[in-house]
Amino acid sequence: MAPPNFEYDFKDLAGNFHGKSSFNSGLYINGEFVEGVDKTTVEIVNPATGKPLSNIPAATDKDVDIAVKAAREAFETRWGTKVPPTERARLLFKLADLIEANADELAALESLNNGKAFAIARAVDLQGAIDTFRYYAGWADKVHGKTIEVNDTKFAYTRHEPIGVVGQITPWNFPLWMLSWKLAPALATGNTIVFKPSEWTPLTAIRVASLIEEVGFPRGVVNILTGIGNTAGAAISAHMGIDKVAFTGSTLVGRHILKSAANSNLKKVTLELGGKSPAIIWDDAELDTAVSWAAFGIGFNHGQTCCAGSRVFVHEKIYDTFLEKFTKKLKEIKVGDPFQPDTFQGPQVSETQYNRIMNHISIGKKEGATVHLGGERHGTEGFFIQPTIFTDVKPEMTIVKEEIFGPVVVLARFNNEEELIRLANDSVYGLAAAVFTRDVSRAIGITNRLKAGTVWVNCYNLLDVNVPFGGYKQSGIGRECGEYALANYTEVKAVHINLTGQPPI
Ligand code: NAP
Ligand code: MG
Repeated sequence: MAPPNFEYDFKDLAGNFHGKSSFNSGLYINGEFVEGVDKTTVEIVNPATGKPLSNIPAATDKDVDIAVKAAREAFETRWGTKVPPTERARLLFKLADLIEANADELAALESLNNGKAFAIARAVDLQGAIDTFRYYAGWADKVHGKTIEVNDTKFAYTRHEPIGVVGQITPWNFPLWMLSWKLAPALATGNTIVFKPSEWTPLTAIRVASLIEEVGFPRGVVNILTGIGNTAGAAISAHMGIDKVAFTGSTLVGRHILKSAANSNLKKVTLELGGKSPAIIWDDAELDTAVSWAAFGIGFNHGQTCCAGSRVFVHEKIYDTFLEKFTKKLKEIKVGDPFQPDTFQGPQVSETQYNRIMNHISIGKKEGATVHLGGERHGTEGFFIQPTIFTDVKPEMTIVKEEIFGPVVVLARFNNEEELIRLANDSVYGLAAAVFTRDVSRAIGITNRLKAGTVWVNCYNLLDVNVPFGGYKQSGIGRECGEYALANYTEVKAVHINLTGQPPI
């Protein structure tokens, strides 16, 4: 039976037409779109309306098994060290070009399925993905080892070899951008892939599968399996034929992945997990700019950003003025239809996430914090939440400790550096942080004391493909982006060359 097709006419909530999309939505295994052995499906929803969009194939462990075999065969015969790195570069550049050529359609799919504003999806997610494929295409023929002069009788060299078959699992907050962070460095270094996107937001990954086909990657090099974490995801992390798993998602599932790797074949694991990142506003900060970045820090992507600035610490000398300006700024955020050009905040991704966030808001109130702004549903349909500020918070409160992953920020004051460092580092997470000050020595001094993988000075949420990203503490293991990510996908082989011919005994 022919695999299903996805067809859609994009409209905004007022019914205005924004173009169409039509593509094959099967599981992409060994260069073909298939329905899956058991033909199971999962429903996807438009978060702006709460209404179903389509049913998408949900891979089972049987499909994962078929994909792993295809990826292994491709690795050994058609990819890995079997193709020159310049060829891998050429294909990756071509994929970047095709994503760029179809960027409006992909941004519309992202917007439709995830709820993020179309204009932001196009400018940030799509551009981020295009840049990532180009960046790692450039690396493909520049990955090499070292020559090590040991002594007169011996030299050694290292080879940076592809690991083999890589499993990759991603979340729903930046579906296509995270796909590029996973696929691009793994392909550049010669690995083959079994990839699973989030069950809620599979559309852009499936669309990219047809672009991968159009580029002409050898069959089996990239396999894209839509499906559910507990089945397809669990099958990937436990599979004996997968050599490495790269995961982005929650700390809870990250733990499962690590256990599963340990219990199966000790596959290598990299993890990009959650955060509860502090934004620190000193009394000498350029106030209006700091307010704007702090609002962007929590508001961007509706707060569904792993590095969101969800704890804002303000010097007590400027706390009242900051709160007033910050409140005004968050009130100005345009919440609404993702297909309106001036929308900054669309709906949360799903009803589950909507309920989780509203539950955190009610816990915050119960534990005695004050809702200074928002705290309610926005509108009457879809999963929209008002930008929300909590004040009167204490370090032990749930809303200060746990990642909320929505447009909800907690504001607290501090009065000296020691207190600030203690508060800012008081988290099981260590993904990111920001410092706002005009004093360069203070900026560097505080940056050095923060336990975080990324620190922004006088800005927030800026990510560049050539700069590494990843977490301290329970925010993860390993780094993505930049040259650092190449190490995630290569094994280092040390080769000793004896120059003497002398027998050892
Ligand atoms: P999640 O629930 O952990 O899911 C992430 C992915 O793992 C999804 O594809 C999910 O499938 C899959 N999964 C679920 N259970 C699994 C299992 N038992 N075995 C294998 N895979 C499984 O996370 P999320 O809710 O999608 O995303 C939000 C989290 O991701 C936040 O904590 C956020 O901070 C983090 N995040 C981190 C970064 C970073 O770079 N550090 C970036 C983005 C997001 P289903 O879709 O079926 O659940
Ligand atoms: Mg999930």
